[in-house]
Amino acid sequence: MILKILQRIQGLLTVDKAPKSVIIPRSKHNISRKDISPNALKVLYRLHQKGYQAYLVGGGIRDLLLGLYPKDFDVATNATPEQVRAIFRNCRLIGRRFRLAHVFFGHETIEVATFRKETLISSPEKTQLIVQDNEYGDLTEDAFRRDFTINALYYNIDDFSLVDYHQGLQDIQTRTLRMIGDPAIRYTEDPVRMLRAIRLAAKCGLTLEKQTQKAIDSIAPQIHQVAPSRLYEEILKLFITGYGVEVLTRLLKLELFNQIFPDVAAGFKQMPWAQQFLMTALANTDARVAQKKAVIPAFFFACLLWGPLQKALAAPSGTLPPLRDFMTAMDQAIDAQMKILLIPKKVVMIMQEIYFCYYRMLALRKKQIYRLITHPKFRAGLDFLELVATVDKEKATIVTWWQQFLAASEYDQSVLLAKLEQQPKKKKRKKTGKTDTPST
Ligand code: ATP
Ligand code: MG
Repeated sequence: MILKILQRIQGLLTVDKAPKSVIIPRSKHNISRKDISPNALKVLYRLHQKGYQAYLVGGGIRDLLLGLYPKDFDVATNATPEQVRAIFRNCRLIGRRFRLAHVFFGHETIEVATFRKETLISSPEKTQLIVQDNEYGDLTEDAFRRDFTINALYYNIDDFSLVDYHQGLQDIQTRTLRMIGDPAIRYTEDPVRMLRAIRLAAKCGLTLEKQTQKAIDSIAPQIHQVAPSRLYEEILKLFITGYGVEVLTRLLKLELFNQIFPDVAAGFKQMPWAQQFLMTALANTDARVAQKKAVIPAFFFACLLWGPLQKALAAPSGTLPPLRDFMTAMDQAIDAQMKILLIPKKVVMIMQEIYFCYYRMLALRKKQIYRLITHPKFRAGLDFLELVATVDKEKATIVTWWQQFLAASEYDQSVLLAKLEQQPKKKKRKKTGKTDTPST
C-alpha cells in the first residue's frame, strides 16, 4: 500500500511539474455550436459574461467528436456552486460531499461542476487508497482527476478551442479508451471506473488500451468496495441503456463478471441455455431502448437471475409444493445477488411479481386466467414467458395459447377455457436435478 501511495504521489509531482495542455483551435476540430444543446450554450455564455471560465467537458464533447448523439452536456467552470446559483434563477445545488449545480430548462438539466482536484487519503478501515475529490482546483487539476483521456477534453466557450491535456483527441481518432495515469492505481482509487471503462467502450465502440484492459482483471475483486447502492446504479447503466449485448459480450471476458455475478457466471457454465437466454433478453432490451420504449430494472434483474433461480430449483428441496419450491428458489437467487449489490426493495417486489405471473401463466388454471390478466405485471410476465420459450421450446405452446386467448373474442375465449378444462391433469415432473432446459 505504501508503495502505491508513493507511486501516486510521484505521479502527481510529475504532473505538477509538467501539466502540458494542447490547445486545438476551432479550425482544427469539428465541434460546431449548432451540435451543442442551446441550453448548454446559454449556461456557458452566461458564466463567461460574468467573468468565469466555462467549458463543455465529458461525455457531451466525447460523443460529438465520435460522431454520436450526446446523452447530456456537462459544464466545468471556476465559479463555485454558490456563484453559479447566484447567476441562474433556475438552479439547484445538489450533493453533500461535493456540491454540483443543476441548471434546469424544462426537461433538460445542465450539470455545472466547479473545477476540482483529487486529494488522496488512506482509509483506515479499508487500508487502501481512496479518493476524496471534494476540493476545488483549477482546469489543470480538473483534467487530471478525470478518468479517461477522451473524457478530459474541454471545449472553451471563449474561443471555441479544445483544451487537451492527455492526447484525448488522438485517442478519439484511434477509438481508444485509455485511463489517465496508471490504470491499476486509478481503478483502485475508484473501482467503478472499471465498469465505466466497459460501458463507454461498449457504447462508443472503443478498444481498451492494453494496460487499461489488463489492470481490470487484477483489480476486479476490489469492486466489492463500492457501495452496494452505487454498484446497483452502475449495473443499470451498463445493461439497460441500450447496448447491453455489447456490454455482456465484453464483460464475459473479464474476471469482473465473476466478481459481480458469481451465481450467474456459474449458471452459464452449467446450463448452456442460460447465457443465450440473457443475451436474447438484452437484445430485446437494446431494441426497446432504440425504439424509445420503456425498460424497467426489475425485468432485467428477473432475466439476469433466471439461471441462478433455475439452479436453485433443480436442487432437491424436500416435500414443498411446486409453487413454494419456485418461490424459495426465487428468494435464494435474489438473496445471494443482494449480498453484492443492493437491488432496491421495490424492484425486488416487481421481480417477484413478474416471476409469479410467469408461474401462474404456465400453470394455466382455468379459475385464475381472468384474475391473472388484470395483474399489473401480467404483460411483463408474458414477455418473460415468451423469452423463456426462446430457449425452451416446450413453452412455445403455452405462449401460443396465451396469445390466442388474448386476441380472441369473448366467445372464443370461453371455448379455449372449456378445452383447458378437458385437458388431463399434467403429471408432476420428476426432479432429476438436470438443468438442460429451464424446469419451469
Ligand atoms: P455519459 O455519456 O454516460 O454521461 P460521461 O462520461 O459524461 O458519460 P458522467 O457520469 O456524466 O459520464 O461523467 C461526466 C464526466 O465526469 C466524465 O466524462 C469524466 O470526465 C468524469 N467522471 C465521471 N465519473 C468519474 C470517475 N468515477 N472518475 C473520474 N472521473 C469521472
Ligand atoms: Mg455525462
